[in-house]
Amino acid sequence: MDRSKLVLVTGAGGFIGGHLVGELLAAGFERVRAVDRKPITEWFQHFDAADNRQLDLMDRAACVEAVNGAASVLNLAADMGGMGFIENNKAACMLSVLINTHMLMSARAAAVERFFFASSACVYAADKQRDPHVTALKEEDAYPAEPEDGYGWEKLFSERLCRHFREDFGLATRIARYHNVYGPHGTYDGGREKAPAAICRKVIEAKLSGRHEIEIWGDGEQTRSFMYIDDCLEGTRRIVESEVVEPLNLGSDRLVTINGLVDIVEGIAGVKLRRTYRLDAPQGVRGRNSDNTLIRQRLGWAPSISLEQGLERTYAWIYDQMAGTRAPGPRPAEVDRRLSAR
Ligand code: NAD
Repeated sequence: MDRSKLVLVTGAGGFIGGHLVGELLAAGFERVRAVDRKPITEWFQHFDAADNRQLDLMDRAACVEAVNGAASVLNLAADMGGMGFIENNKAACMLSVLINTHMLMSARAAAVERFFFASSACVYAADKQRDPHVTALKEEDAYPAEPEDGYGWEKLFSERLCRHFREDFGLATRIARYHNVYGPHGTYDGGREKAPAAICRKVIEAKLSGRHEIEIWGDGEQTRSFMYIDDCLEGTRRIVESEVVEPLNLGSDRLVTINGLVDIVEGIAGVKLRRTYRLDAPQGVRGRNSDNTLIRQRLGWAPSISLEQGLERTYAWIYDQMAGTRAPGPRPAEVDRRLSAR
């Protein structure tokens, strides 16, 4: 991507979008537009060096305004959250189809050079994820289609929309299927949080309150893989800049049970908690892992940051927020300083 041309990041007030804007600015991109429907004061990170705008991208006119002058679009805006959110908000999740449809139409009309879509491992067929000792999911396993109800169907549909905009209209689309991304500056409470952040929060609550117990959703033996945000940013950049037009898995391939995840976080916190299991809580599929054969083959790279390292950094950030030891909002000043020094 040309550093002098305008890059648009949608969902920039969210977890991954916020990090992406920071990365682009730090990498020397001179014109970054950051768009989210949340008020800017509520963004997880915001950078003064970006052109920050509050727009609701379900609305087509807002998409036209957002893409105006952009050479590249990184489309991450979506109404989403962890299992607790997507199992109980299927219609809301599916309405993100309006964002993706209007963004693609506007990007085509504006002759955007490259359009990236953040898809998800939730596109994979449920039948291939019933066993906790899963065979990792290959890209071809998305079909025959039986994705996660609501959220997964929307992502799969939008993947195909990207494909057909590329084939029929010549829009250069690129797609990553993110598998569980975690790290600092994300949601850790309020109902949209995902397992790593939720577990860090619960362990910290137990540590701070002295009540050494933790509630786990499900029996704790369901399996997942978790990718640290820095790997996600690096992989996204590589996919956007690549010539790979088919969706690629972007996730860690280290399978871990939720109990295993709790073990690691307890180790970081230096506590041992009494575990209770809520079997009626939303849990999603029984097992899911990323097969990284294709991304290794096509890009010569795959995520590699260890779960221990990533969780340590995530735990430290959530701890600071909860214990109030550091004010929220970190790197913006650092990036702005670096920019003004150039
Ligand atoms: P997030 O919820 O933190 O960020 C999404 C942002 O999109 C939010 O700030 C939200 O306000 C914004 N948004 C929602 N509706 C909008 C609208 N109509 N107009 C403008 N902005 C709108 O989520 P995230 O974890 O940063 O995820 C980013 C993308 O990656 C999403 O598309 C998500 O589906 C995808 N993804 C994330 C993960 C993960 O583990 N975090 C996994 C798979 C896929």
